[in-house]
Amino acid sequence: MIPRDHPRYRSLVARERLARCAREGVVALEGLAAHGRGEAFDYLIGEKTTRSAALAERTAAAMLLSARHAVISVNGNTAALAAAEIAALQRASGADIEVNLFHRTEERMEQIIRLLTEHGARVLSGNAERIVPLSHDRALSLPEGIGDADLVLVPLEDGDRCAALRKMGKTVITIDLNPLSRTARTANLTIVDEVTRAIPAITAACTTLEPGEGERLIASLDNTYLLRAAIDEMRENLSHALE
Ligand code: ATP
Repeated sequence: MIPRDHPRYRSLVARERLARCAREGVVALEGLAAHGRGEAFDYLIGEKTTRSAALAERTAAAMLLSARHAVISVNGNTAALAAAEIAALQRASGADIEVNLFHRTEERMEQIIRLLTEHGARVLSGNAERIVPLSHDRALSLPEGIGDADLVLVPLEDGDRCAALRKMGKTVITIDLNPLSRTARTANLTIVDEVTRAIPAITAACTTLEPGEGERLIASLDNTYLLRAAIDEMRENLSHALE
């Protein structure tokens, strides 16, 4: 049992959950390494939602709500960390959910779909085809899901899939604590925040956007500004680290 008053309680709980999910096969071992990279950047950002991330989260809500067909693409780490939060975002935004895995096996696909379903999500399933221009299994997508989407939310993505989705003309929103990653720099909108903070914030914004606010947010979206603001925040935290 991790004591609730431990100063790193949230981080330890997340690690414990990821380790359990790795033992069960939901999370790939490589996913644990990816989480470690995220944790390091979360430390630098102060383990909080910054003002610029909050702006990105409201903008993401506006984009999800105004899309013709929004799809949330879920991988093992996202399902392990935020299954209930993804289900709540689906209810608030009306987006479809599709599972997409780097280390894809039928068994892992089923496990992740089951985990999401147990938390109240409705997950698309069917015959995946090589729709996204990539040479590995992340190309596999549902024609009626990511294949048809005009907007895809890809938390914790990797750079070449993000670029391939953009090449297909899709709008891509990502959640990535590393503002320097290829994904962060390739997406239309990057939320530099931890996934379990970011998803509930997008969900909350879906129900609190004022009339006209969504259009204004979308019109003024500047991803380079958002990435720069995250880097500035990290630089600021570093320069005060030993005070
Ligand atoms: P890229 O290919 O985009 O340059 P990468 O090779 O680092 O990035 P991955 O190894 O797939 O891509 O890692 C996924 C990204 O997700 C990493 O940049 C990491 O910082 C981020 N990340 C990991 N865990 C979390 C989390 N819990 N919340 C938000 N971001 C996270």
